[in-house]
Amino acid sequence: MLIVDAHIHLFSPEIQAHRDRYAAHDPFFGYLYSSPKARMVSVTELLADMDAAGVDKVVAVGWPWQRGDICREQNDWLMAVTRRHTDRVIALGTVQPLDGPAAVAELRRCVEGGLAGVGELNADGQGFRLDDSGFLSVARAATDMGVPMLLHTNEPVGHVYPGKGQLSLADVYAFIKATPELRLVLAHWGGGFPFYELMPEVRAAARNVFYDSAASPLLYTPAIFRTVIDLVGTDKVLFGSDYPLILYPKRQKMPSFSPLLDEANSGGVPAAALADVLGRNAMRVYSTS
Ligand SMILES: [Zn+2]
Repeated sequence: MLIVDAHIHLFSPEIQAHRDRYAAHDPFFGYLYSSPKARMVSVTELLADMDAAGVDKVVAVGWPWQRGDICREQNDWLMAVTRRHTDRVIALGTVQPLDGPAAVAELRRCVEGGLAGVGELNADGQGFRLDDSGFLSVARAATDMGVPMLLHTNEPVGHVYPGKGQLSLADVYAFIKATPELRLVLAHWGGGFPFYELMPEVRAAARNVFYDSAASPLLYTPAIFRTVIDLVGTDKVLFGSDYPLILYPKRQKMPSFSPLLDEANSGGVPAAALADVLGRNAMRVYSTS
């Protein structure tokens, strides 16, 4: 069975060596990554952790930078990583949607350079609204190019944590209705959006919407896997971890793919859905070929 982690974060050696400099340019990054406790791994560490846990491929994203030039620099590095590790690493490009036409041009450059789509974009972190014209033009360009977008979403209720934003599910729904043909992955279980797919008109509008499980154990009990699969179907759920984030702080010391994979494998995901959720769906959504 092919195992794909559809949501991990990678940072270039340059960013890892100069966190402070990047933090000075980007308050949202600084807020979450100024502390050296916020994990970053090298590509070598990533591949070793993948091998240790039996993960075949990852979908790697960088950071949703506020500045277009830093997005570009990151995209260049991610393109080089995917060229060197074509069989293991699929990567997405980031853009600053507020740059409008320049963001669209950068997305085109990313796709031509072998990146599989755009994301993880973050409205709160990058300071855009889902109805901004620049963001909509990026979404339409992705639709026209036939590539997916990974969008950060989070729950409107529950505990507060660093990085939890204000994005409303009503805004997410308006965006889905505005771009119904876009292959859209809502990260972190869509912030609860799957529940509304029980409404027939929402389900119809969200026919190209998918959900990933990134950071799941920090937010939900393991029942979330079967519950969302029940709500939206086997083919719309993608296993993703948010690696190298520590998902089980009480018992996990180092980044690892294994604990969440174990959670999914040991009853979290119904047996009949495992092959789709742990790999096939990610390949359907993110495959570049
Ligand atoms: Zn996220």
